[in-house]
Amino acid sequence: MLVNPQRRKPARTGSNVILEKACVAIGPDAANPAVLTLFERIIARQIPAKILFEDEHVLAFHDIQPQAPVHVLVIPKKPIPRIGEAAAEDQTLLGHLLLKAADVARTLGLDASGYRLVINHGRDGGESVPHLHCHLLGRRPMSWPPG
Ligand SMILES: [Zn+2]
Repeated sequence: MLVNPQRRKPARTGSNVILEKACVAIGPDAANPAVLTLFERIIARQIPAKILFEDEHVLAFHDIQPQAPVHVLVIPKKPIPRIGEAAAEDQTLLGHLLLKAADVARTLGLDASGYRLVINHGRDGGESVPHLHCHLLGRRPMSWPPG
């Protein structure tokens, strides 16, 4: 089933959504936690995405609301809600996630110009989708401090 996520009402609204336009704000339905997150639906191929890399542990795809000329999301297939809820058993997976983010950046030719990796945790961090993900942003200069 093809779903245009932009036509769906976000499950949550508020400043966290505004802060992170980088990913579409479709979290789990609070009244029905069995509803898959947007990213779980992408992993399950229920929602199309421009996939750049996939192995048994991670998936990398272009963000549908890019905040830079290159904006890729690298996500673990394991549904860890956010970095603060990762466990010691996730150490290898998280290392793999970062190494694959760097591989994708290299493949996209960003090594020389540089890029930024971002992980948002919770409201103040600007998290919108409750599935751990690493933003890869590049092909424009990034400012510091970040907004
Ligand atoms: Zn995000």
